[in-house]
Amino acid sequence: MVRLITHNMLACHARNCTKDNFPLVFSDVELVVREAELNPDFLRRFLPKLDWAALVDTARSLGDTALPDDMPAEWTDAQLQHLHHVLLEMHVEEGNMTCRGCGHVYPIQNGIPNMLLAEHEIAR
Ligand SMILES: [Zn+2]
Repeated sequence: MVRLITHNMLACHARNCTKDNFPLVFSDVELVVREAELNPDFLRRFLPKLDWAALVDTARSLGDTALPDDMPAEWTDAQLQHLHHVLLEMHVEEGNMTCRGCGHVYPIQNGIPNMLLAEHEIAR
């Protein structure tokens, strides 16, 4: 499954693709929401690893506009709950992730991203 917590770590890995290779841009997405148990400690520990701007852009591209432009310094329970929802409960089941740098399309089918590259795209 592709959740935004995973997507936030994914950059294009095609050979010579080093510019605009993150975040990958979703299109033709089929989104499913599955409730998960909130773990505030996990979320707080994860915050420093997040690329916030990429997360906000991506969430907005999927229709979720409630994340603020800047990462809150102090989190309310409601904000943390919403972050939990965006990171861990939104699942992209079908769709594409496109690299803005090289245009490579990584398809997602049945919740599984295909990160494989063609021979000529592989770094050596
Ligand atoms: Zn690329």
